[in-house]
Amino acid sequence: MNVFEYQARDLLGQYGLPIPVGGVATSPEEARHIAERLAKGPFVVKAQILAGGRGKGRFLSGFSGGVRLCSHPAEVEEIARVMLGGVLVTMQTGPEGRSVNKVLVAEAPQISRELYLAILIDRGRRCPVVIGSAQGGVDIEEVARKDPEAIHRIWVDPQVGFWPYQARELAMRMGLHGPLLNPAADVIVRLYRFFCECDASLSEVNPLAVIENEKFAVIDAKIGFDENALFRHPEIAACRNEVVEDAREAEALKAGLNYVGLSGEIGCMVNGAGLAMATMDILHRYGGEPANFLDVGGGADQNQVTKAFAILMADPKVRAIFVHIFGGIMQCDVIARGIVEAVSHTKPKVPVVVRLQGTNFEEGKAILHQSDLLIRTADDLAEAAQKAVAAARET
Ligand code: ADP
Ligand code: MG
Repeated sequence: MNVFEYQARDLLGQYGLPIPVGGVATSPEEARHIAERLAKGPFVVKAQILAGGRGKGRFLSGFSGGVRLCSHPAEVEEIARVMLGGVLVTMQTGPEGRSVNKVLVAEAPQISRELYLAILIDRGRRCPVVIGSAQGGVDIEEVARKDPEAIHRIWVDPQVGFWPYQARELAMRMGLHGPLLNPAADVIVRLYRFFCECDASLSEVNPLAVIENEKFAVIDAKIGFDENALFRHPEIAACRNEVVEDAREAEALKAGLNYVGLSGEIGCMVNGAGLAMATMDILHRYGGEPANFLDVGGGADQNQVTKAFAILMADPKVRAIFVHIFGGIMQCDVIARGIVEAVSHTKPKVPVVVRLQGTNFEEGKAILHQSDLLIRTADDLAEAAQKAVAAARET
């Protein structure tokens, strides 16, 4: 789960990282008030979207830049008015861009150098890696391509931990010497503590700026968290309500369903993530495209099945619904009754294709056939996928 920059700032601030003062606004007036409360200009107004490259981005309206410097609160208000409600396109968003519902307003210190600092998991080596570069503020992939020597890495043995001497070594390799050395090491150590204690999967500060040649400021932060560890961090889990942008995903989250919206035409309801992915692959193979990934889980109840149907049907792109369930712990006859209930309750306007396999699947199929609802069934996976693709074509 990635969080917005304004949320990342709050979390990093709790670990003593140097964050320029500021606040988040949802209206132009609020943006102006934040600027008025800050000591002095210049200010920066930053569009809050879950994608990078904002500085060089462009709004669909033609306005250029999702990061803008201003000198007066009145100007902050003006820029916030243009950004809020706008759609920002960057090299990371795709041509459709992302809607901007919030802007960050912060002090814009005089930057003398822009550095790069990140911590992530090196899956190959199975340990965290701390990455630093003197060339920050720009696209790091570009630096890695053109000048790989400019990127420095320190791998951390999780048993031994990360020590201040390692932070100083990295800082030196990033070109930080003299009075900047210890403050830099302090920033790196604090970011490492944050990364471990908060179960982050990525903590990237780009740029980490040098201010007035003597101190540091976290100018931009991209933070991702391990979702399997969110139960340990209620405060971070609470960020989720803000970051789920897709209305269908927000609904599913409330019902305890694992749903990811996609762009195809076949609504899928599957139990188990592996089966859900196999289902998406085989639909693709027969010329169809899934409208979503939906894992109802091993122990989905009647309510969840009904809710899942409602979410699939609320998607105007969906031209057929494909229910693909393996009855392992759950039994197929129980699932079939659930499907019949949900179909008679939600009355889908598109064809429903069901494949049940596993415990009591014969009974399950019989229940579907006796229901006099127009549910199409199939025995094997290829046949079911072909029926689903054909059903989507006929509507
Ligand atoms: P993105 O990575 O999405 O383009 P950044 O927050 O990194 O957004 O901003 C891009 C550039 O804008 C930074 O490299 C920096 O030069 C400038 N900038 C951003 N925030 C500030 C700030 N608070 N003060 C001064 N300059 C800033
Ligand atoms: Mg950045």
